[in-house]
Amino acid sequence: MIDIDGSTGEGGGQILRTALALSMCTGHPITIWHIRARRPRPGLMRQHLTCVQAAVAVCGARVQGAELGSQHLVFTPDAVRAGAHEFNVGTAGSCTLVLQTVLPPLMFAQSASRLVLRGGTHNPMAPPFHFIERGFAPLLRRLGVTIDLALRRYGFFPAGGGEIEAAIGPATENALKPFDLLDRGSAIESYAECLAPGLPRVVSSRELEALGRALQWSGEQLRAPPVRENEGPGNALMATLAHAQVCEVFTAFGEKGVRAERVAATLARDVQAFLASRAALGPWLADQWMLPLALSVARQGGAAEFTCSELTAHASTNMQVIERFLPVRFQAEADEGMWRVRVGAG
Ligand code: ATP
Repeated sequence: MIDIDGSTGEGGGQILRTALALSMCTGHPITIWHIRARRPRPGLMRQHLTCVQAAVAVCGARVQGAELGSQHLVFTPDAVRAGAHEFNVGTAGSCTLVLQTVLPPLMFAQSASRLVLRGGTHNPMAPPFHFIERGFAPLLRRLGVTIDLALRRYGFFPAGGGEIEAAIGPATENALKPFDLLDRGSAIESYAECLAPGLPRVVSSRELEALGRALQWSGEQLRAPPVRENEGPGNALMATLAHAQVCEVFTAFGEKGVRAERVAATLARDVQAFLASRAALGPWLADQWMLPLALSVARQGGAAEFTCSELTAHASTNMQVIERFLPVRFQAEADEGMWRVRVGAG
């Protein structure tokens, strides 16, 4: 039994999701105490409870404490069950975070899985669908993972109702070969999109124009994709930076009462901070990349490195949780305005 203190480090939902994912991958039962203790409303919220329920379904686990508000969970996994699964957060809680909980065990399975996930697809403080599709999934494919994603319907706070489909695996023979990611490679293209279903067109135009001015991007780089009917309301302003080695997607969310120019300024700051560094990964991709990379090192041995523009509390906490499950050691050191992170068999 691995005992996890959910109040350590960042003290949020990522500790729970990483622990569930690695419990399924390794077969180790877990007890988690003080779940999300550092959040204003601690314990399992709907999104976290759905992650637990999804994990139970994917590996036939026995579980205690799987209730809304619960701060203590005991989870005993059984064999992983690839195949068709449907998970519904039931609120606007992020369904990409549910996907990231069950993805690690399913990507090693000998047979394929098809997941349908419902909930929020573009949430603040969570990976938006386009970040997963353009940034995270291509890195997994380079590791040898088979994954295809489709966005069936947008889901924004507060209405939710989004839907994602994910086709995963089966694992290929040379799956999970670790590789270094030390620079992002040459720039291929950069563009911004404003997803604003259910809102007047002027909102997306103002956000895009303000972003264009801040980043000195041309009109061709500013896009408002066609809005699908009966979706929204929602407002996500995204910047996609495609480089030869990595694609980063940064997102800022519009809210009632927040000026379009402020939304654009927030996003421009994130993009400029990333561009000012030479690192391969931005702050969010860095904390999310650690888990698949550590799994690949644990399976294949050796070591792998990456650079990132920022080492967040999420990232440091994730390293600690991963080391509790896998025979790996992380080392992170500051290196000329960026961070260099090494994960080696240990
Ligand atoms: P809580 O903080 O309420 O417990 P949570 O369950 O959403 O919430 P966190 O521990 O905060 O969990 O983890 C959020 C995850 O979302 C992290 O992996 C982080 O990298 C990712 N994330 C946050 N913002 C973005 C963003 N703009 N783009 C991509 N990923 C993001």
